[in-house]
Amino acid sequence: MTETRMSDCLFCKIATGAIQSDVVYEDENVIAFNDINPQAPTHVLIVPKRHISTLNDLTLADELIVGRLVRRAATIAETRGYAKNGYRTVFNCNSGAGQTVFHIHLHLLAGRQFDWPPG
Ligand code: 5GP
Ligand code: ZN
Repeated sequence: MTETRMSDCLFCKIATGAIQSDVVYEDENVIAFNDINPQAPTHVLIVPKRHISTLNDLTLADELIVGRLVRRAATIAETRGYAKNGYRTVFNCNSGAGQTVFHIHLHLLAGRQFDWPPG
């Protein structure tokens, strides 16, 4: 069973406000805040308030929250005028993909041209 909060988890602490962040959206289930080390003019992290360590830990019950993360990214991008030109969304899963914070988060990157394949 995935715990609701992890006392040693950075994004759980940001979700409760115990650690300060630059919040751009918040509701009962989701918080979105600017990345501390932005890789594009817009670099927002969209995060479930409930602790889930990696995409490998998702269950059927998490389908709604994952949908909310993705739709929130699209809404933030649309609000900032990036819908037509495009934007990048990324979930990194485990260290081989570059995951450094083990509480799932969707990166929303926008405002510059992105290469494919990614590095
Ligand atoms: P990951 O590498 O796990 O996919 O992404 C973690 C992201 O969290 C990185 O882009 C990193 O810059 C960001 N990050 C790490 N620590 C903090 C923090 O304390 N505050 C904020 N706002 N972002 C952070
Ligand atoms: Zn957490």
